[in-house]
Amino acid sequence: MPLTGGCICGAVRYEIAVEPLFVHACHCGDCQRFSGSAFVVLLGIEKANLSVSGELTKVTNPTPSGAGYDAHGCPQCLTIIWNKYHFVELPLVAVRGGTLDDPSLAPPAYHIFTGSKQPWFELPKGVKAFEGWLEPSEAWSPTTLQRLEELAKRN
Ligand SMILES: [Zn+2]
Ligand SMILES: [Zn+2]
Repeated sequence: MPLTGGCICGAVRYEIAVEPLFVHACHCGDCQRFSGSAFVVLLGIEKANLSVSGELTKVTNPTPSGAGYDAHGCPQCLTIIWNKYHFVELPLVAVRGGTLDDPSLAPPAYHIFTGSKQPWFELPKGVKAFEGWLEPSEAWSPTTLQRLEELAKRN
């Protein structure tokens, strides 16, 4: 069953045809500020596997590394749907988990930038956590690493 989602006003709808490459929660300060929340859940998807209906607008925001990212969202209600990180050369997007019709279908498998997480938020017991950016070999499954390798070969 494909994952579906959209913006709050309904002008933008999307469908993800595959199992996400990864689902993580980012606790960096920039994600906190931009989302107005304590962390953001992001689903890594090959761009080709995300189909979108409706018009999108984008803004460029900073990341902790300074490379920045483009946030794509609905121009009417300003819901951000996905991010494209500039330091990632592959055609890979990070869909915001909260925009899924059922966000419970994509719980984060690990947490990143926990060095700046809010002190009142306790990480679930036993969950993988990285103080800064993730370590691919630790965070990602062999299947994900293989899919990323194939994506790199095609590009
Ligand atoms: Zn909208
Ligand atoms: Zn972040």
